[in-house]
Amino acid sequence: SEVSNLKVAVRVRPMNAQECKSTLSGSCVSVVGKEVIVSAGHTADGSAGVCHTFNYDDVFWSSRRGNADGNDQNAVFQGTALPLVDVAFEGKNCCLFAYGQTGSGKSYSMMGLDDDININASSEAGIIPRFCQEIFQRIDQLKGKVHVEVEVSYFEIYNEKIHDLLAISSTMLNTSNQRETLRVREHPLDGPYVVNLSTHPVSSYLSLRNWLSLGNSHRATAATGMNDKSSRSHSIFNIVLNMSEMDANITDSANIQSKRSKISLVDLAGSERLSQTCTSGNRMKEGVSINSSLLILGRVIAALADSKKMGTFVPYRESVLTWLLRENLGGNSRTVMLATISPASIHIDETIATLRYACQARSIVNRVKVNEDPHN
Ligand code: ADP
Ligand code: MG
Repeated sequence: SEVSNLKVAVRVRPMNAQECKSTLSGSCVSVVGKEVIVSAGHTADGSAGVCHTFNYDDVFWSSRRGNADGNDQNAVFQGTALPLVDVAFEGKNCCLFAYGQTGSGKSYSMMGLDDDININASSEAGIIPRFCQEIFQRIDQLKGKVHVEVEVSYFEIYNEKIHDLLAISSTMLNTSNQRETLRVREHPLDGPYVVNLSTHPVSSYLSLRNWLSLGNSHRATAATGMNDKSSRSHSIFNIVLNMSEMDANITDSANIQSKRSKISLVDLAGSERLSQTCTSGNRMKEGVSINSSLLILGRVIAALADSKKMGTFVPYRESVLTWLLRENLGGNSRTVMLATISPASIHIDETIATLRYACQARSIVNRVKVNEDPHN
């Protein structure tokens, strides 16, 4: 197996109109190469304030939309996710997850804006549609040599409960509050999985795209104060590739090389601490619960980052999220973290928290192997 550190990229979104208008809110972030510098402003006597400097594998500074610099959705895809397409076709698992406070650009990065069926370089489609389109282009190129079957599933974790976003059973037709809750179970060989999660074979980008749109329309969106429900839920889009080599000289089916890879593309809940706008009953529970899920992710990352100490306990099973992402965090998977931040001074505390978290994640080591299955 190959040893590979978790790769961490940071994306700084542009200032939004509201941040630009506010006189209190300048930018506190600058980028030099692969370094992000956060300056805490000036002190009363006019001397420069504290500077925090962080280094990453990659940093994307998003200039204003429609800028002649070209499209940064495409640049972010090429820099973070495209290498994972290669990994997946080698039969290795991979994962990309977006982490950051609400409004920092996680969903824009993962899903993007438009519904273009054919993604051109200038479209604002995000990583997931670009990744999927790339997969089907590769499959086309491999025609006659490798047979590839693609299967997708899509679910969200809200309040530590799992909801299938692609189920089209009668239970799914209920209002979102009464949706069926799925459980995690441990398979002796394949590890943790979601019981009864629907999986859907897809044979073209177009049909995959339809499942994606359906799932997105099922994502929870009940408004609560400043944050909508989608900012409190984690969404996980899985693609499984089953590949078998087609060699006319091999007549014994037991000799056919089969490989399998699982790709998880994750849009996490907002990383900010529980907002004060949610104070009572259910809403409070939502906030606390989502928070605890990210809290455990933080503990898992801290424990793994510290794993030079042998035998450190990693609390994977203490949240649904980390249990399901176990292989992706310190296991058999190539994993990329995309940390998203706002450049505005008003968000400096959350920005520094995100950048620290992201730095720590860089020391996580995964052991990646090809998933071969000779008797599939
Ligand atoms: P999150 O999912 O982290 O809560 P969103 O992805 O929904 O945040 O982004 C918040 C807003 O900012 C959206 O209107 C989105 O279109 C916009 N936005 C985020 N990142 C960028 C970017 N890099 N370039 C342009 N607009 C962006
Ligand atoms: Mg979002």
